[in-house]
Amino acid sequence: MTMPDVLDAPPPRLSSADAVRVAAEVFGVRGAARALVSERDQNFAIGDGWVLKVSNAAEDPGVVEMEMAAVARIAEVDPALPVPLARPTLDGGAVARVQIAGIGTHLVRLIPLLAGRHTSSGALTDNSIHAIGTVVARLARALRGFFHPAAGRVILWDQQHLPRLFRHTALIEPGARRRLLQLALARFSERVLPALPAMRSQVIHNDVTLDNLLVDSAGTVTGIIDFGDMAHTALVLDIPATLQSLLRERDDIVGVATTFLDGYTSVLPLEDVEAQLLGDLIAGRMAQTILISAHRTREYPDNDYIRGWSEPAWALLAQLEAIGFEESGRRLAAAARRPARTVRAGGWVADEQLMARRGRVLGSALEPLSYQRPLHLVRGEGAWMFDTHGRGYLDAYNNVPVVGHSHPRVVEAIARQVATLNTNTRYLHENVVELAEHLTATMPDGLDTVMFVNSGSEANDLAWRLATTVTGSDTGIVTDWAYHGVTAAIADFSPSEWPRGEQPPGVETCPAPDSYHGAYADTDSPASVARAEMIATVGRLAERGRRPAALLIDSTFTSDGIFVPAPAVVAELVAAARDAGALFVADEVQAGFGRTGDEMWGFSRWGVSPDIVTLGKAMGNGHPVAAVVTRAGIADRMASQTTFFSTFGGNPVACAAALAVLDVIEDERLIANAEAVGAWLRAAIADLAARHPAVGDVRGRGLMLGVELVTDPDSHEPARDLAARTKDEMRERGVLIGTTGRNGNTLKIRPPLCIRRDEAKLIVTTLDAVLTELGA
Ligand code: PMP
Repeated sequence: MTMPDVLDAPPPRLSSADAVRVAAEVFGVRGAARALVSERDQNFAIGDGWVLKVSNAAEDPGVVEMEMAAVARIAEVDPALPVPLARPTLDGGAVARVQIAGIGTHLVRLIPLLAGRHTSSGALTDNSIHAIGTVVARLARALRGFFHPAAGRVILWDQQHLPRLFRHTALIEPGARRRLLQLALARFSERVLPALPAMRSQVIHNDVTLDNLLVDSAGTVTGIIDFGDMAHTALVLDIPATLQSLLRERDDIVGVATTFLDGYTSVLPLEDVEAQLLGDLIAGRMAQTILISAHRTREYPDNDYIRGWSEPAWALLAQLEAIGFEESGRRLAAAARRPARTVRAGGWVADEQLMARRGRVLGSALEPLSYQRPLHLVRGEGAWMFDTHGRGYLDAYNNVPVVGHSHPRVVEAIARQVATLNTNTRYLHENVVELAEHLTATMPDGLDTVMFVNSGSEANDLAWRLATTVTGSDTGIVTDWAYHGVTAAIADFSPSEWPRGEQPPGVETCPAPDSYHGAYADTDSPASVARAEMIATVGRLAERGRRPAALLIDSTFTSDGIFVPAPAVVAELVAAARDAGALFVADEVQAGFGRTGDEMWGFSRWGVSPDIVTLGKAMGNGHPVAAVVTRAGIADRMASQTTFFSTFGGNPVACAAALAVLDVIEDERLIANAEAVGAWLRAAIADLAARHPAVGDVRGRGLMLGVELVTDPDSHEPARDLAARTKDEMRERGVLIGTTGRNGNTLKIRPPLCIRRDEAKLIVTTLDAVLTELGA
C-alpha cells in the first residue's frame, strides 16, 4: 500500500500565473490560465485548446506514467474513443517535473481541451445514457490487455478496498443514516467480498462520471477525461462508478440503470456473478463515497467538491432501500443479464416499413395494430414496456404478464428447463404432476383433474368437448358480448366476434349483468330476474329443438364491458342452466391467477363450484400454457370414448413457467397487491368522475377495471369516439390502456398484478389530464 494516500494529501496550490508560466516554459504553449475543478490535483485550462494537469505532490510518478500509457493504449485499440493524448514537453518527454518556489515539486502534463460540455443526469436522454453505457464498456475493452505495475497501488476509490474505510462509519452520527450505511456495508461484506477474488479483473478507468465526460448538443460523448482513479480491480466496478453519477437526482433509478446496462452489455456482456452483485456494488460505491467524504470533510472542511457527493449518495442509498436491496439487486441483475439488444434502428420510417411488411405477410384478417400510432416495443420489465427509442410505457392493459414483464424467476425457470429437456406428457416428469397438484389444491373440492393445452381457446374447446360428451346436448350459452376464443366451436361462443347479425345455430345468449344499463337490476330481486332470463334463454333453445350442454361465463365479463354482479345473479344463472342439463364452465382465462384480488379464481365470489374451469393467458406469464380443470368423473366420461393428448400441452418447459408464476404470485403477495392497488385505483378514478361528466361508471374487481364513458350521465349514451381518443391520448403520454364492451366505450384498465401504487397513480393523473384535454 502506498502511503500517504493521495486522498490524504492536500491538493497542489499553484497560482494561475504559475500555470501560465509552466505551460509556456515546459510545453511552449501560451495562453491565459483558468482554474478547473479537481478533487486532489490541480487543473488549469490554458488558452482555448489545452489543460495543464498538476499532480498531487503525493502522487506516485508511476501512476502518472500509467495514466499516460493507458490513454495511449486506448487511442491505439479504439481510436474512435475521444481520449486526451498528452502533448510532449519541449524536450520530447511525456511529462515534466517542475519545482515551484514555495510550493513544491509536481509532475505536470499538458493534454488537449476536448470539445463538448459537461451535462447533468437530468438532461440526459435515454439514447445518451445508452451511449454512455457503450463508452464505459469500450474503454474497459480497450484496456483489456493493458498492464502497468502502478495499477496495483491501493486507491480508496477502488471498491475492493472498501473495508479500509469501514472504520470511518464512526464519523456518521448514530441514527437511521448510520444504520442504513451499516446495512449496505454488511451486505458488501457478506456478498461482495467473498466473490471479489474470483471476479474478472483488469485495469479499468473506474471513474467515468458525468464530471469526467464531455458531450455535444446531441448528447454524444465527445470527451473522456481524468484517468486518475484507474486501478487493477474487478472489471464490473466501472459500472457503479458511472451509475453513481447517472442516477443522481433520478426517480426511475432502475430504468436509468437498465438503459445504461443495455448499452454496456451490448459491448461487454456481464458474467452472472457480476450481474447478481450490481445492486450491492452500487450501494457499496455509495458507502465508499459517504465514508471518504466524512473522513475528508473532517480533514478539509472547506472542500465543497468532496461534500457535494455525499448527500446524493445518501439519497441513492435510500432509494435502493425503498425498493429493497434484494429487489433492486434482482431487477438490476435481470437488466444486466438480458442479451444485448441491438434493435435500436427505430425511427418512424423504419416502423412504417415494418408495418408494410407486416401487412404483406401476416394478411388482413389479423387484428389491426393497437393505437393510432402503433407501438414498436422491444422489452418489458415489471409493469413497463419500452420502445425502440427506449421510451417507457406503463402497461395498464396486458393481463398476460401477470407477475410483471420478463419476470426473472419465470425467465430463469423456462431457460433452465429448456436447456435441460423438453418433451411431452407421454413421459414421466415431475413438473406436470406438480403443477396439476398445485392447481387442484387451489380449486374447490371435487375439481381434482387437470388437462393441459396451449391456449385459452383450446381450453374452452376441450371444455366444450367434455360438456357435450357428458350431457349429450348440442348448444352453448354465453353472455351477449362475450369472447371465449378462436377455434371453430369457440368462435361461435364469442358473440363479440360474430360476423354481424349472424348467430350460429349452436349457441344462445343471455344478457351480461350490466346493471349500469339496467340488466338484472330493475327489480328488488336481480337474482330472480337472472333465473327468469336463463329460463327464457333455454326456452329459446328448446324452440329450435336444442338443449344446452354448457353455460360459459368469463368471471370478469371482460368483453361484455367488465361487470361485477351480485353473487346471487350468477348463482341463479348457473342454477337455472344446470336445471336445464347444462354444465357450468368458468372461463378464468381473464380473471384467473389473482386478478380479481379476492382469491386465485374469479368464480370464488359466486359461491358456486364450476363443473369445468378453463385457464390460460396469465398461467405462463406469456409462455403458452393453458389448462382445463374438472372432476375426475367428467374426464372419465371422455376416457370411455377416447383419449386426449396435446403435443405441447403440459410439456416440462410450459409447466416450469407456470410453476414459477404460481410461486411468484405467492411470494410477492400479488393477490393482496391486486386487491389493495385495485381498490385504490378504482376509488381514485371514481373521484375523477366528479370533475369529468363523461365518466359514467367506474367498476371492476382487483386489477380489472372498467371506466364507462358516456355523452350524457343521465341517458348513459355511449361515448365511443371519446373512449378511442382517450386510449390513444393515454398512449401518447406513455400509459397503455384498452377499450371494451359492445359499444367500445368502456376503458379497460388491466395492468400486471405487480403494479405499484405510485405507478397506478400515474394512470389516474394521466387519465385526468387526457379527459381535461379532450374536454370530457
Ligand atoms: N377466454 C377469454 C375470457 C378470453 O379473454 C380469451 C382471450 N382474450 C380466451 C378465452 C382465448 O384465449 P387465447 O387467445 O389464449 O386462445
